Amino acid sequence: MAYSYEAPVSQSLFDRASVVTPGGVNSPVRAFRAVGGTPRFMVSGTGPYLTDADGREYVDLVCSWGPMILGHSHPEVIAAVQEAVSRGTSFGTPGEGEVALAEEIVARIEPVEQVRLVSSGTEATMSAIRLARGFTGRAKVVKFAGCYHGHVDALLAAAGSGVATFGLPDTPGVTGATAGDTVVLPYNDLDAVRAAFAAHPGEIACVITEASPGNMGVVPPADGFNAGLKELCAANGALYISDEVMTGFRTSKAGWYGVDGVRPDLMTFGKVMGGGFPAAAFGGRGDVMAHLAPAGPVYQAGTLSGNPVATAAGLAQLRLLDDAAYAQIDAVSAELRSLVGEALTKEGVAHTVSAASNMFSVFFTDQPVRDYDDAKKQDVFRFTAFFHSMLEQGVYLPPSAFESWFVSTAHDERAIERIAAALPAAARAASEATA
Ligand code: PLP
Repeated sequence: MAYSYEAPVSQSLFDRASVVTPGGVNSPVRAFRAVGGTPRFMVSGTGPYLTDADGREYVDLVCSWGPMILGHSHPEVIAAVQEAVSRGTSFGTPGEGEVALAEEIVARIEPVEQVRLVSSGTEATMSAIRLARGFTGRAKVVKFAGCYHGHVDALLAAAGSGVATFGLPDTPGVTGATAGDTVVLPYNDLDAVRAAFAAHPGEIACVITEASPGNMGVVPPADGFNAGLKELCAANGALYISDEVMTGFRTSKAGWYGVDGVRPDLMTFGKVMGGGFPAAAFGGRGDVMAHLAPAGPVYQAGTLSGNPVATAAGLAQLRLLDDAAYAQIDAVSAELRSLVGEALTKEGVAHTVSAASNMFSVFFTDQPVRDYDDAKKQDVFRFTAFFHSMLEQGVYLPPSAFESWFVSTAHDERAIERIAAALPAAARAASEATA
């Protein structure tokens, strides 16, 4: 595909980066391999806008893959960070900020009786499954195809996100022994979960699922799916782990738990709770969390866990996320979904706009998408054309058809008008695209 626009400064930075960093990036999907072209190197962000190294401004519908729910450079978050930085950046001791952030999480999410702070969503899920194994004394973990839980060895099989983008069935470097303890099932299929428990009696430590998946595109749980998982886990002595790294503090004040009310044994968080800094967490039932060191025998630790700057940013962001903020984000998301749907319909492009609360993505198929196999059947080449047209017109979408789009409280009428103005040409590009 030829691009009629250029980004010479980003390209030269990418060339430099490719010499010293594998693939030129520090996280694969940033390299634009799924869509082609030059990844944009961003230099600043304000509200709903990002500015790249070539001086072009974009309306941002990635929001750093979820964290920037108040938009970029929110003054109160920046002030909290500056205040924290002025007192020092890391002490390696407990501090009040981490207590306050833990209290905020526990207050918002009722099933979380205790929480441990870590530095990334990957660490949160890795630690949660270790704890589940330590608590139950069992080895096997059930996960669902298309759900991404970070780059944890045991959880990379049939993962979504970048693994979906690159079509990697498995990752070299994960040993057979590790992969052998992971049971991968189709999403939204309770019969498959029943069968797995029957096939491995007394062996399954936990079922981990994205609370509402966003890493194969947005594919919400069918009615009763999460409740069914919880029931099956309880009946078989396994823990139900809800991964809310993406949905947590985004899909409602209490994340996806606030939407479906299904009570997990353990939960994982990241993204929004860090305010754009590396902060994440896992937490849940007090009797399970009591097994974690130093209270219990399951080891887990981190030099920068509960970092004072990251916790200040996260706390400032969470305190600004009241009911009015969520109502606003939901409204922006609804408006954008209908604008995208109208533009694609007008050009006769087969599509499904799939939403879970304010998270949404567009599948270029008119067939229902209930799992990863369905998601893979879309016309990805149409997304590619759509993506580049939007980029050229100053709208930054996730550079993959298998990712959620994210909005923030900063996406105001002006930003929405810019997106609306770009949609007709992008829909036309999608309709004219060829495989
Ligand atoms: N879990 C989910 C649901 C995610 O979406 C992600 C990242 O996108 C992770 C875990 C991993 O988080 P991190 O990238 O902070 O390691």
